[in-house]
Amino acid sequence: MIYVHVPFCHRKCTYCAFFSKVESARWRVDGYVDALLREMEERCNEQAHPIKTVYFGGGTPSILPLGQLGRIVEGLHRWFDLSRLEEMTLEANPEDLTPEYLAELKRMGFNRLSVGIQSLDDRVLRMLNRRHTARQALMAVEAARGAGFENISVDFIYGIESMESIESIGPIDSIAPIISHVSLYALTVEAGTALAVQVGQGRVVLPDEDEVVRQYHALHDFFESHGFHQYEVSNYARAGFESRHNSRYWNRTPYLGLGPGAHSFDGGRHRRWNNPDGTIGEETLTEADAWNEQLMTALRTTRGLPLSALPVGQKERLHRLMQPYIACGWIALKDNHYAPTTEGLLHADGMAAALFV
Ligand code: SF4
Repeated sequence: MIYVHVPFCHRKCTYCAFFSKVESARWRVDGYVDALLREMEERCNEQAHPIKTVYFGGGTPSILPLGQLGRIVEGLHRWFDLSRLEEMTLEANPEDLTPEYLAELKRMGFNRLSVGIQSLDDRVLRMLNRRHTARQALMAVEAARGAGFENISVDFIYGIESMESIESIGPIDSIAPIISHVSLYALTVEAGTALAVQVGQGRVVLPDEDEVVRQYHALHDFFESHGFHQYEVSNYARAGFESRHNSRYWNRTPYLGLGPGAHSFDGGRHRRWNNPDGTIGEETLTEADAWNEQLMTALRTTRGLPLSALPVGQKERLHRLMQPYIACGWIALKDNHYAPTTEGLLHADGMAAALFV
């Protein structure tokens, strides 16, 4: 599987701590595509072929003009075996998804879109410094359906302000029937962001934890009653539309990350990443760290942790430590897995930390 990092954005959202440049100058983007093609040539043997999934993330991949996006896709076909490609996703912002752009994406072989809607309330969108309006978001998803995309995911952020009812986030009823996947993220305040400054100065007041948990449950119930099922702490899909690419991350499948800021993983204990300054970072996890990572990832999925994966010397200890979580209803023993319940997913990271070796 391949991840392509596109490090450009039209503007910076207040909450964003990802590496991205507010830039789309032609020469800069051309230079980025040239470097990406060189990296493909140099690193094409680091991944087992054929490639099953490709994910363009950012940044804002849909900022790329079609010509430059086409050069990247051609490069992928040149350097990798994509003959058995199952899923190729583009992260997109609604304002970029014109009918012409969408038709061309389809022609290039993209079969999944992840649209950064975040909210359907114009006031909230302005507060987050998003460029699109709620109407544009709805129109973009409708246009994507019209262009023949069946596999459309949207992102929503909750916990931005108090929410009286599910309708407070906007006409969510109109979007639910035309999407197949949704990612729900609780707003977090990352150091160094505009949001951290606004919160520090008291210009933005975020809801307390109880309200955030209430919103998690309200959104969960809404999507579950509209034909979606939760398969990871932040992700819901209609049957058969779970993200194949992200599911492979959670199964610790090896992946190759291309572009500045992209991470790669060999499926065992070795990780490497591109730094934006052109240098490369690497780490080899200890056996304990690799297991802890696996534990944390597994407890964030509804499938959970397979009993067969428990390290031999740790089995007894882990079975014992799981008992209180089973007793309080956060973990259920299902199909030979320790599977977190809806409530348990809210505590996945805490539970994992308590179980670390
Ligand atoms: S569009 Fe995405 S990557 Fe770009 S600033 Fe906003 S949240 Fe960050």
